[in-house]
Amino acid sequence: MTKDPKDLPSQRGIGSKSSKWRPQTMMVRGGLTRSEHGETSEALYLNSGFVYDSPEEQSGRMAGETPGYIYSRYANPTVRMFEERLALLEGAEDCRATASGMAAIHTMLVAPIKPGDRIVAPRALFSSCVWILKNVMPKMGVDVTWVESTTDFKEWERALSTPCRFVLIETPSNPMLDAVDIRAVADLTHAAGGELIVDNVFASPILQKPLEFGADWVVYSTTKHMDGQGRTLGGAILGKTKAIEGQLQQYYRHTGPSMSPFNAWVVLKGLETMDLRVRAMSANARKVADRLADNAKIAAVRYPGRSDHPHHNIHAAQMPEGGGSLVAFSVKGGRDAAYKLLNKLNLVDISNNLGDAKSLITHPATTTHRTLTDDERAAIGLDDTWVRLSVGLEDPQDVAEDIEQALSGR
Ligand SMILES: *Cc1c(COP(=O)(O)O)cnc(C)c1O
Repeated sequence: MTKDPKDLPSQRGIGSKSSKWRPQTMMVRGGLTRSEHGETSEALYLNSGFVYDSPEEQSGRMAGETPGYIYSRYANPTVRMFEERLALLEGAEDCRATASGMAAIHTMLVAPIKPGDRIVAPRALFSSCVWILKNVMPKMGVDVTWVESTTDFKEWERALSTPCRFVLIETPSNPMLDAVDIRAVADLTHAAGGELIVDNVFASPILQKPLEFGADWVVYSTTKHMDGQGRTLGGAILGKTKAIEGQLQQYYRHTGPSMSPFNAWVVLKGLETMDLRVRAMSANARKVADRLADNAKIAAVRYPGRSDHPHHNIHAAQMPEGGGSLVAFSVKGGRDAAYKLLNKLNLVDISNNLGDAKSLITHPATTTHRTLTDDERAAIGLDDTWVRLSVGLEDPQDVAEDIEQALSGR
């Protein structure tokens, strides 16, 4: 049975029905479209192509004259439900889902960029983003200006005193949980004629809304808190409809970074519980951070929600409802002591993933950040005493006790 094109999610426009709902309602019902079977839960449209009643209809659809789906590399009903739900939650006009977080950031940067353009970014970025800026952008004739300190306003002013196409920031950053003042950098970016992209993975849309602080784009790895149970890879780009259609649409359709319908279905269902999960993980992380701060074997703890974090004021203004699920801490005794701690854990798993229901820990200097030079690591304040902990949904006392027992008796 062919559906009335007006009922297709891609034809309704974001929020036509649900924009008045509060966030928790949108997370459960936003973007929902039901098939003629009236299923309760969102349907998984695990199909690559679509059929047409006639060649006239096919031709019209492909010419963009008749509404309707064409091919899942362009759009798919399950993926579209996820895109609509996330756009509603973020307060963005539209969204494109991608196969991974890096596919989102790569598409976002590469699709519109031209030789001679300039990108400004702080050193404190996810390491694959640093890799793209260092290895892909120069090949395209794009200059990259690095900002050493995320909070040095004078440095931002200098970096943005000449024209720039994009500024890419991450706040809180990986792994030191540095802050960037989104509003201040957005204003400088716009004055330089550029657009501000915020990688909002660590905060999630539950705890921080970069668009409200003047950002133009928000990008996600849905692999983290949106899935939340370590099953799928995915990503998302959120921004204005006109900008998505003008800067990204054709590149997205023809180069194929699309999210699989199966993964979209998993993260679509993940959004229904994300508010509960992220708030619980953030509260758990706060409890674990406070306990670790009292431990004599730990030299320093960094948690955005604690007042001893050097950028606490910025985090508190941008993430008023919680400091997030990540904690970084420095172990007395350097790399050997940090490795010993990881080797003695019974509950917390060693993994470079994050935002999972299971608590996960990693030693960034020798894993996720091993490809940085010593100077680059020093620029973000990372040395081999630091470990990064992603606090999950276990009882936080069990997580804290596991780390305490692993630190003791050396
Ligand atoms: C994980 C992550 C990415 C990359 O996402 P993938 O889904 O792994 O491709 C980008 N930025 C941040 C901050 C991340 O944590």
